[in-house]
Order: sequence, then C-alpha cells, then structure tokens
Amino acid sequence: MQQVLVLNASYEPLNVCSVRRAHVLVFKGKAEVIEELSRPLHSATTTFPWPHVIRLVTYIRVPRAVQRKISRRALFARDGWRCVYCGTASGRLTLDHVVPRSRGGDSVWENVVTSCAPCNLRKGNRTLEESGLELRTKPRPPAPVLFIRLAAPKIPQRWEPYLTSFGATTAA
Ligand SMILES: [Zn+2]
Repeated sequence: MQQVLVLNASYEPLNVCSVRRAHVLVFKGKAEVIEELSRPLHSATTTFPWPHVIRLVTYIRVPRAVQRKISRRALFARDGWRCVYCGTASGRLTLDHVVPRSRGGDSVWENVVTSCAPCNLRKGNRTLEESGLELRTKPRPPAPVLFIRLAAPKIPQRWEPYLTSFGATTAA
C-alpha cells in the first residue's frame, strides 16, 4: 500500500495518509502536491499526478496537549535506543519513570525515559537526587517525525529531505 507524506504549510511533516485521502485533499484545494510519482492516477475521465508528498495549504496548529500515546518503541526511538542515565546501547532497555509513580510521577513524555536494566535497578524507587543518577537529555514529547518513521515500514527516499530537515529521532 503506497503511503503519502503530509506536510504542514510550514513544511513540517505531520503524518502519512493513503493516496486516496491525499487525492481528496488536493482535489478540494486543501493541499498541493510537492512530490509526485511518475505513474499517473487514472479516474474515469482524466489522469492526475500520483501524490507522494503533499503540503497543506493552511497551517495546522498541532497542540502540545494532544500528545501521542507512550509506547516502548516510540520512547526508545526518542532516546536513540540508549539509556539516558549511562548512555549504553547494549543490553535490555526498560521504561523508567524519572519521578517514580509511587512518588507521584505521571506517565507522561516528560517523565518517562529509556533506561538500561542495571540503571533502572540502581535507581529503583528513588528520585534523581536520591539515586545520584543524572539525565543526559531532558525528556520531552517527541516530534511528529518520530511517529512517521515508526509508522512507515520503509521510508521512501524522496521523503528523507523533508524528514531530516525537521530533526532526527532525538529532536533537539
Ligand atoms: Zn544505564
């Protein structure tokens, strides 16, 4: 199934959609085709360019409050598949609450990090101060780009310039 990359008016990647959905957006004048594939899209009476990357005509504000659900895969990808405490990329990775749940810590992007099993064990039920561990990066909600990368089984080559210009997996 061919997917289409959807960019905001600002060119920031938003999500992916089906060719049919992209075509409807373009047909209604809500989006323009930025990249197309060489094969044409046939309807009963005419042919259209096959959309590959489209851009919304009107800027869509993506509220911070609308946050994506936390999954281990997305969390580990956000943190570059490394422990945020010691930086190791080897061994088993776990999800750690910076402020432990038993101490009132929430399961939100700002309070969950990727931790190797030994660091998680060492930290246990303690806060950063108590454990003496330090965060190498401050946890924050991932950029939409991360979810596009996780959602698409294979990123088409012509999507890459749009994705890379809006940050790698570990958004700064
Ligand atoms: Zn570690």
